[in-house]
Amino acid sequence: MYFIDTHAHIDMLKGLTPQEAVVKSENEGVKYIINVGSSLDGSKKSIEFARKFSNVFASVGVHPHNVRSFGKKEIKILQLLIQGYSGTVNENLTTPHASMRGILHPHGLGFLLRGRDQRLNSTGLTSHLSDGIQKVYHKQRQMPREKRLISSLLKQEALRRYLVSERYKKVVAVGETGFDFYRNLSPRIDMERAFVSHIELAIKYDIPVIIHDRDAHKQTLEVVKKYIDQKNFRAVVHCFSGDVNFAMQCLDLGLYISFTGVITFPNARDILKAVEKVPVERLFIETDAPFLAPQAKRGKENYPGYVRYVAEKIAEIKNLSVEEVADITSKNAERFFSIN
Ligand SMILES: [Zn+2]
Ligand SMILES: [Zn+2]
Repeated sequence: MYFIDTHAHIDMLKGLTPQEAVVKSENEGVKYIINVGSSLDGSKKSIEFARKFSNVFASVGVHPHNVRSFGKKEIKILQLLIQGYSGTVNENLTTPHASMRGILHPHGLGFLLRGRDQRLNSTGLTSHLSDGIQKVYHKQRQMPREKRLISSLLKQEALRRYLVSERYKKVVAVGETGFDFYRNLSPRIDMERAFVSHIELAIKYDIPVIIHDRDAHKQTLEVVKKYIDQKNFRAVVHCFSGDVNFAMQCLDLGLYISFTGVITFPNARDILKAVEKVPVERLFIETDAPFLAPQAKRGKENYPGYVRYVAEKIAEIKNLSVEEVADITSKNAERFFSIN
C-alpha cells in the first residue's frame, strides 16, 4: 500500500526542509509527491525538486492570486519550464520512461531516440546517436539533401531535444490555475486570461491541468466547457470545495476531483456528501501542504505525510479499507499524470 500526494508545495514548508519532508513522507507510505507551482519561482523549485528527488514530480503554473501581470513573457517562461529548463540543470541523464511523448518530431528523427529505455551518460548518448545516424544514412542513401538536413539536425537539434525531453518528463502537469473569488487577489479578467493560457499550454504539451477553484464554480465550468472536446484536455479540480451538485457537473465534463484534509474538518458536511457520491475511480488525494492540515493535526504545519488522513476519511465515508482507497487513488493518479 502507498499513497500519492497529488498536490503539495514543499518549497513553502517552514518546519521541514524539502529533503526532510520527502524522507519523512516516504516513511509514512507516500510513494510520490507532485510539487505544484504557484508562481514562476515556485514552479522552478518544483522542477529542481523533481530532479533532485526521484519520487517528486513537478507541476508548473502561476496561482490565480499572482496573475495580475500574467502575459506573454510568463507564458514563454512556463513553456520553457514545461520543456524542463529551470535554469539549474542537473545533467545526470537517466531515461526511466520509454516514451519521449512525441517531442522528437522533426523529419523522422524521432525513431532514433524514441522508445529507448536505458541508462545513458553523455558518452553513451553519443554512441547511441551515431548508431542512429548510420541507420538514417542507410535508409536515405538516395537523398543527399535529406542527409545533410538530418546531419545538421542531429548536431543542432536532436541532442538538445533529447536533453530537453529528459527534463520534460518530470513535469507532469500545468497549474495550479483557475479562479479564486474568496480572496480576489487578482482581477477576475486576469485570472481568466491566465487560466486559458495554462489550459492551452497543457493541451499543447499533452499534460493535465490542475485547477484551483475557490468560490468560482460557475466561472470554472464556463472556461472548462470550451476545452472538453479537445483530445489532450484533461484536468483535476484540486482541493475540491463544492457540493454534490458541482461534483456531478465536474464528473460529467470528465474532470477528476481531488480532496484535501478539508474533508476531515467538522464543518465539511457538504463536501462529505460529494465524497460519498464521487466514484473512487475519479478521485485523487492531496495535502496542499503546508496549508490545510487535517483535523487531527490542526494548528500544525501540513506536509505530504499527512495525506493518509485524507485517505482514511474517504475510506470511512465510502465504507472501503484505507488500502483500497490508497491503491485506487494511487492508480488513478499514476495514470492521469503519466507517472510510472
Ligand atoms: Zn489551490
Ligand atoms: Zn496549492
